[in-house]
Amino acid sequence: MRGPGNRRGIRRATRFTIAAVAAAAVGGGALVYAGEYRNGADAGNDVNAADAEAPATTSAPVPAPEPLPAPPDWDYSTVIGYTGDDTEMHLTFDDGPGKDTPAILDILDRYNVKATFCMTGRQTDEEPDIGRQVLARGHLLCNHSYSHLPSINRGNAAGITAEINKANDAFARQYGAPQPTYYRAPEGVFNGQVPTALAGLKMRALGWAVDSRDWTKPGVDTIVNNVLSQVGPGKIVLMHDAGGTDRAQTVAALPRIIEGIRAAGYRLTTPR
Ligand SMILES: [Zn+2]
Repeated sequence: MRGPGNRRGIRRATRFTIAAVAAAAVGGGALVYAGEYRNGADAGNDVNAADAEAPATTSAPVPAPEPLPAPPDWDYSTVIGYTGDDTEMHLTFDDGPGKDTPAILDILDRYNVKATFCMTGRQTDEEPDIGRQVLARGHLLCNHSYSHLPSINRGNAAGITAEINKANDAFARQYGAPQPTYYRAPEGVFNGQVPTALAGLKMRALGWAVDSRDWTKPGVDTIVNNVLSQVGPGKIVLMHDAGGTDRAQTVAALPRIIEGIRAAGYRLTTPR
């Protein structure tokens, strides 16, 4: 067990992330920010089959402006890439529920790991039985928007709020779940009016510190290395249980990732 010095380290790292967000937001908008946040990875590439299959949006009527939110008890511009204490790391799975989710659930059960599933409302309505399994097996639900259209996160706060609420409504209808604490924006687009929307909803922006890039299907060894080369205190790891034709590489990589993170001295848990 390491001491409070390491905890300060986590806080410093978090501040760095926020500073990068702020600098990028001033300097060039969403894509720059996403690139910085992803530690130099290509920005705007979280486009997968889920995106491709999404229907084109029609021009919806512009909602009325929202009232200003009450003073927040949380800095909703904070994109959480690190959390918890210095003994833990966090696995997150995006874009489900989908047909490969049960295989991931079985692996997590085998290792007694609880993870965070950033589900879309659309997939919740497509695969409600699988989504219910995720919650029944003790994992944390995170909102990943209804339609997974990154353009929504570049719009106004009322539109973003409506999209997030539409997913929350699906979670309530299909799972009986309360509003999740966390929101993960499609493509990691957390700037613009997203903090305003999250402040109104009292939801927090769940980012990541480690990108497995599993959605690019680079091969199992590469996915494993992408994660295990970046282990560190409090880090949140981005993976995908759905969103493409299949997640076979993610499924194959997962046991090695869990074993490697544990071998490095970290336990796996969910953000609180
Ligand atoms: Zn996604």
